[in-house]
Amino acid sequence: MEDGETRVSEGVAPTGVRTFDCVQCGARLEYAPGGGALQCPYCGAEQPVVMVDETIDEHDYVTWQSSPIKPTGRTGAHLLSCPRCAAQLETDDLSTLCQFCGAPIVVDVNPDEQIVPEGVVPFTIDRRGAQDAVRAWVGSRLFAPNRLKKVTATEQLKGTYLPHWTFDASTSTRYSGLRGEHYFETQQVTVMVDGRPQQQTRQVMRTRWWPASGAVARDFDDVVVVASTRLEPDQIARLSPWSLEGARPYQPEYLSGYQALRYDVQPDQGLEAAKQQMRTVILDDCRHDIGGDVQQVHSMDTRYAELMFKLMLLPVWVAAYLYGGTTYQVFVNAHTGQVIGDRPYSIPKIIAAVVLGLIVVAVLVFLFSQQQSTGVTIGGPGGSG
Ligand SMILES: [Zn+2]
Ligand SMILES: [Zn+2]
Repeated sequence: MEDGETRVSEGVAPTGVRTFDCVQCGARLEYAPGGGALQCPYCGAEQPVVMVDETIDEHDYVTWQSSPIKPTGRTGAHLLSCPRCAAQLETDDLSTLCQFCGAPIVVDVNPDEQIVPEGVVPFTIDRRGAQDAVRAWVGSRLFAPNRLKKVTATEQLKGTYLPHWTFDASTSTRYSGLRGEHYFETQQVTVMVDGRPQQQTRQVMRTRWWPASGAVARDFDDVVVVASTRLEPDQIARLSPWSLEGARPYQPEYLSGYQALRYDVQPDQGLEAAKQQMRTVILDDCRHDIGGDVQQVHSMDTRYAELMFKLMLLPVWVAAYLYGGTTYQVFVNAHTGQVIGDRPYSIPKIIAAVVLGLIVVAVLVFLFSQQQSTGVTIGGPGGSG
């Protein structure tokens, strides 16, 4: 069924989505970073965020997986979809351009529901702080095009929550492998001394291997994996590790005035990624358990018990801009202030620098030849040839 009418009237929210309006002027309140309150961007009126829950709940993974109807909901009044990069954002703020690729974004009129976040790390760095951080970052980049500087000047930075899964697990692992112990062997070797062969003794390290097997156990708490494929893995890696210290139980207040990127990595895919992270730690545990000087681990059989998971929203300021036909993104971790970004190089600026460099070289060569023609020689004997 084609519904030609795609207009969404503001203030009309789907059931279960709360929006927050200013009691003084009726404008939409926004969460004020660091303050723990909602603030009106027009008249400045404040309204404290009253914490509803004390603790962040987690889902039992096995129960969740086996239940035929999984609890879902909406976090924003609107769902925005980007036709270019496929980002989907829940928000109460109808913006026009996608912060990940700069393309015009459209309102999805028939949105489905997703797992509702259990936790959120609220913004602690506000827009101004993010702009300052980006300005300092741009200032430290050589040959940055002027377009990059505009990212700091305009309102391009958008406060965006990035979806992450966190997993807890109680693991037990049976392993088998080899324990290596070093020993030294004395060897006779022939070496050439002043052109004549000579016998010398030398200590050579060897390793004796013994079969090793055993069991290790480890509990994991909040292994964080990104729940979106809209972001470059290396950028995500540079934004992490995330501190979940400031995490609060999810409440819609924290999203007021912001956008939340939807997850497109499902919990089972997230669990596989989390297991990969756990595996690295478990492998280390096995090596420790084997002991010796060096170890080989040939097999690990891990049981995961008490698997718990939750969806966690982590705050960034994002801007995308187009330069030379390529889209570049700049992120500010809104909890630490760290700036991550790809940056283009301004070809005109590089050419200008090269030309300036050539001019400097030409001037030096000219001065040098002037000196030589007046009879001063530099750098040892000359004049032969
Ligand atoms: Zn107001
Ligand atoms: Zn996009």
